[in-house]
Amino acid sequence: MKVFLSIVIPVFNEEAGLLEGVHEVLAALEGIGQPSELVLVDDGSTDHTWSRIERFAASNGAVKGLRLSRNYGKESAIFAGLSRTIGQHVLVMDADLQHPPDAIAPMLDSYLKQGYDIIDGVKSNRGSESLWYRWCASAFNRLFSSLSGMNLSHASDFKIMSRRVVDSLLTLEERGVFFRGLTSWVGFAHGTYEFEVATRRQGQGSWSVSQLLQLGANAITSYTSSLLHLVSFLGVLFMLFAVVLGLQTLFNKLSGQATDGFTTVILLLLVIGAVIMVSLGIIGQYIARIYEEVKRRPRYIISDEI
Ligand code: UDP
Ligand code: MG
Repeated sequence: MKVFLSIVIPVFNEEAGLLEGVHEVLAALEGIGQPSELVLVDDGSTDHTWSRIERFAASNGAVKGLRLSRNYGKESAIFAGLSRTIGQHVLVMDADLQHPPDAIAPMLDSYLKQGYDIIDGVKSNRGSESLWYRWCASAFNRLFSSLSGMNLSHASDFKIMSRRVVDSLLTLEERGVFFRGLTSWVGFAHGTYEFEVATRRQGQGSWSVSQLLQLGANAITSYTSSLLHLVSFLGVLFMLFAVVLGLQTLFNKLSGQATDGFTTVILLLLVIGAVIMVSLGIIGQYIARIYEEVKRRPRYIISDEI
C-alpha cells in the first residue's frame, strides 16, 4: 500500500500531553482520508513517554515508534524520524500541540494546490513566550540572517516536504544538523503557510538556556562560515589601524615630541586583547565543529523500534 502522508513528531518527556496530541493528530489524519503513517521518535525521554508510544503502536497499525538510546536533541530526533518515513509527503511537527493538528489539513491542501516541494509553517504570532525569550530569539534571528542572508524570524519546524526533499535531506552527511537551515539549503520551491502558535498544553518547554545557546552556535557554525571571514576582516582593520598609529608614533618620536602615551598603550592592549580572544573563540567554535564532524559518529543510536 502506498503511504500518502507521513507525520514525524520528535518527543521528549511529553507523557502528560502525548495522549491528547496523538489523538488529535490521528483524527486529523483520518479526516484527510488517505493512507498515512505517524512516526513518533522518543528522544531519550526519562518519563513514561516510550511506554505510551508502544501502546499507540500496538493499538494502531499506522503508528511507528522509534526510541533513541539517549537524548540527542530535537534536530537529530527529526532526522531519525525522517529516515523511517515511507510516505510520498512528509510533515514534521511538535508533540506539544503548539503546531496545531487542525492546521494539518488546510496546510496539506495549500501544499497540494500550490504544487511546491516544501511548505514552511510560518508563525503569525510567537505564542506565549516570555519577554526575555522573545528578545533572545529575535537577537539570534537578526545575527543569523545578517550572517547567512536567510530570514528565520517567523520560521518554524512545522513543515510539509515532498519525498524528494526528504531524500535530499537524508543524503546530507553532517552530524550537526539544523533542520530549518538545511531545508532551506536543499533548495526546491518553497511556499509558506501561516499558522497561529498555540500555547503549550501540557508540561514545560524543555530547552535550557545553555541548550538554546548551543543550538544557536551550532546553527550558525553549521550553516555559514561568515564568522570566520569576520575574523579576517577584523584582522585587516586592525592592521590598518596599526599602520596609521605606527606612523604617527614614529613621527612623534622623530620630531622629539613623544609623550607618556600610557593611556593609548593600555587602551590598545585591552582592545586588541579582546579582539584576539573573541576571534580565537570563534575559530575555536569552528574547530569544535570540525572535530565533531571528523569523528563521523552517527547522529543518533536507535535502541528500540516498533
Ligand atoms: N524535543 C525533542 N528533544 C529535545 C527537546 C525537545 O525531541 O531534546 C521535542 C519536544 O518533545 C517537542 C518539540 O521537540 O515535540 C519542541 O520542543 P519544545 O516545545 O520544548 O520547544 P519549543 O516549542 O520551545 O520550540
Ligand atoms: Mg513547544
